[in-house]
Amino acid sequence: MILILEANTDQESAQYGLLVRYLSSLINITYEVRHIQGANQRLTEIYLLGDTKSLSMEFMRSLPCVQRVVRVQEAYRILGRHGQEDFPHQFEYNKITFDQTSLHVFAGLCAVDTPEHVELMMKALKENGQVCTRMGAYKPRTNPYSFQGHGKDCLPHVFELAGKYGIQIICMEVTHESHIQEIHEALEATGHPTGVMLQIGTRNTQNFELLKCAGRQDDYPVLIKRGFGITLNESLNAAEYLASEGNRRIIFALRGMKTNLGDPHRNFVDFTHVPVVHRLTRMPVCIDPSHSVGSRQKSPDGLMDVMHATAQGVIAGANMILVDFHPNPAKALVDGPQALRLDELPFFLEDIQIARDAYLKRVELVQSRQAST
Ligand code: PEP
Ligand code: MN
Repeated sequence: MILILEANTDQESAQYGLLVRYLSSLINITYEVRHIQGANQRLTEIYLLGDTKSLSMEFMRSLPCVQRVVRVQEAYRILGRHGQEDFPHQFEYNKITFDQTSLHVFAGLCAVDTPEHVELMMKALKENGQVCTRMGAYKPRTNPYSFQGHGKDCLPHVFELAGKYGIQIICMEVTHESHIQEIHEALEATGHPTGVMLQIGTRNTQNFELLKCAGRQDDYPVLIKRGFGITLNESLNAAEYLASEGNRRIIFALRGMKTNLGDPHRNFVDFTHVPVVHRLTRMPVCIDPSHSVGSRQKSPDGLMDVMHATAQGVIAGANMILVDFHPNPAKALVDGPQALRLDELPFFLEDIQIARDAYLKRVELVQSRQAST
């Protein structure tokens, strides 16, 4: 059972004191308090664990500070929507708000290579009004002899350049607990010129020890990618590992499934699952069209498959786009063939806006239909 308290409940108040005193007196039931800082308000949720079947919903709702009571199903206990259509969840990081209604673009380098390329990328983002990016420093590679990323050595200049160009969040994959510490130290050393969203890649979706580490820390939000060869349910449970350790700032990313049935795409594009994840959980949903499609191939209409896939995800309500760009794709050390060029950024953003407007119109349409019936 989850008790959702009135927004901005003061934990020093007498009312709150009464509530926790009552919860402490319950036999065979423990509770955990979690806070989520949104753009305008702080939400508090209290998770009751144990023998909660005998608790009456009406009575729990009548307790001081309680606004709402949700009886949870076993699946996705914390992240789940539990059949509640109206179950708000949003978080803010570095002044940017994430929820199931917003949309943010994270265009950037699959892998950091030269400082010049990082700077050209960030300059293009700024010129196009973008404040988020992706930058891979730790690269999980299939072949041990392939470029593995510059690791912690590149972090100071990446963070400083981000600060110079007003980048507020860098999405960066981590493959080991020590990488979180290295990111932390580099941010401290450079005076926090930017923020970092930790990315758990598809190869590590079920690396439970890594998930627990990313879930235990509260400094950075986490983007977890769907596992490429496991069920959606298994990937959502992986996300629940992060939440069960305390972190509530989690975004779930679709990046395609590994099967030859998706050929000639690199992976089988799975963006029809955007609304499914919205329905099952409260997480914002990201799409990664670059790793799904894996090329710059175009259809006869002139649009690249990457752009078609992006539009399909956005028109289905995606909340974040993680996409590979490079100033000179031929020189990229990782995934050059799927990278878009910087001169394509304004075109890409305009195309996204068309799909986004169409999505918002679709929502308006269904809402007006609901209002009239
Ligand atoms: C990436 O985003 O750089 C990446 C390696 O993606 P994935 O984990 O989806 O393969
Ligand atoms: Mn890549």
